[in-house]
Amino acid sequence: MMLLRKLSLARLLRLVRPPTAFRRIYLLCPACEKVFRSQKVISMSVGATRTDLYRRAAGKPPLAHLIHMCPTCGYSGAKEDFGEDVELSPTLKTRVQMEITAVMPHGPASGSEKYEAAAKIAEWEDGDPRRVADLLLRAAWCCVEEGDIEAERYFRRKAAWKFEEALRSFDGVAREERAVLTYLVAELWRRVGKAESAAEWFDRVAPEVVDARTQQWVIDAARQQRDRPREWLR
Ligand SMILES: [Zn+2]
Repeated sequence: MMLLRKLSLARLLRLVRPPTAFRRIYLLCPACEKVFRSQKVISMSVGATRTDLYRRAAGKPPLAHLIHMCPTCGYSGAKEDFGEDVELSPTLKTRVQMEITAVMPHGPASGSEKYEAAAKIAEWEDGDPRRVADLLLRAAWCCVEEGDIEAERYFRRKAAWKFEEALRSFDGVAREERAVLTYLVAELWRRVGKAESAAEWFDRVAPEVVDARTQQWVIDAARQQRDRPREWLR
């Protein structure tokens, strides 16, 4: 009790949920071959989950630092996309120059700008809709943190279309992930005001469940967001 009395509530919370920790790293850009400095998330403690599956973290939000952008040419991706074995085709390098470098923002890029560039590059690389959709969803999450409602809606729509495309493709989504991605499409449509599309997709969630024991939460979330939508899952 003595110890507890000495600790303020904020300090106590930090002990229970330590804030996100970062480390400075240097990355070699595979597009322009310049080395640049970035920040890597080395630990984070996640808290509540929003109904679009964004997870809140303690301290400085880590989301914008889970993606890196070369400040010279704008090439963007996860840390692995800057690995030593990464080699870009001449066509891809040209597209980066023409469509990303040419329109790069002045000053440090925001999280949503980095994810948008990474989504474009993923689209040009192999076009895997699941991977592109994930990056677009993260761009939308960043827009919430950045307070940009218009861009948030733009990325939510683009993510919903890409997740739909992934679900339509033959092996684009693992069987056990279909229910949660179906739910996500519904929730994205609901959040941009497409009530009819949202209702349609919420009703498709239960038939996609393959394990009722571990996926009951998806059925419950779909019912909640269809009937009495809330901001956070729990
Ligand atoms: Zn570069």
